[in-house]
Amino acid sequence: MAAGAAARRESGPGPGGEKRILCVGLVCLDIISVVEAYPAEDSDIRCVSQRWQRGGNASNSCTVLALLGAPCAFMGSLAPGHAADFVLADLQRYGVDVGHAVPQPAGCLPTSVVIVNASRGTRTILHAHGNLPDVTAHDFELVDFSQYKWIHWEVFISKDVARHFGYQSAPEALQGLHSRIQPGATLICAWAEEGADAMGPSGELVHSDAFPPETLVDTLGAGDTFNAAVIFALSAGRSLQDALTFGCQIAGRKCGIQGFDGIV
Ligand code: ADP
Repeated sequence: MAAGAAARRESGPGPGGEKRILCVGLVCLDIISVVEAYPAEDSDIRCVSQRWQRGGNASNSCTVLALLGAPCAFMGSLAPGHAADFVLADLQRYGVDVGHAVPQPAGCLPTSVVIVNASRGTRTILHAHGNLPDVTAHDFELVDFSQYKWIHWEVFISKDVARHFGYQSAPEALQGLHSRIQPGATLICAWAEEGADAMGPSGELVHSDAFPPETLVDTLGAGDTFNAAVIFALSAGRSLQDALTFGCQIAGRKCGIQGFDGIV
């Protein structure tokens, strides 16, 4: 389906009248090369495999929510062109509602070239943001929020953002950022093999260890997977501790496979 035809459709609640989860943010194209060892600069090597994969934080979280069985919708800008057709079709293949994907008349879909080092599971991302405008306040006015039980923007603090602010661990980031957020908010911070920490509405601290897979294969999208699994659990009424543990379990499973299929 072309982006234009998919736009601005409120598709109602999920099967059985269940309210949806809306993820707002980026969808992009990830061009992924899996290598045995990280290449030296100016070398010429063969990949183990190469694939196109739909990426972007909000779009990845939608993939995971869909795999977990939660009705969900994606909202974000979509460029015209073949790459955008590919990511749109892929969202639909997973059953993600794309009624609030906002087609832009011009521009390029953001694209990442990703090197996944299969021997260590690391992912090195070269991201081209492109020139697509963001969704606007007007786009939000078209959303019937009563259809949604959870809207995901940026609640979670990633370790990259935390490091950018000068923090060296998840607990340090939570303590440091606590005073900068609204009273009563929950702050959640994942930290790779150290698992994740959270601070609840009354300042209580919660931790989950990571669940490392037998073999670390691909950590691309681990944070998006963690976020989705935590949202899945919290939106089902589970406790912050339960949600954090579930998030680490599902993210750990993701790190043991290429891509997302097979996390549940
Ligand atoms: P990202 O860099 O994608 O934002 P993180 O690296 O912080 O995300 O990882 C998110 C979650 O994924 C962690 O909380 C952890 O549960 C899991 N995870 C990531 N890397 C590993 C790893 N090497 N071993 C086990 N679990 C991991």
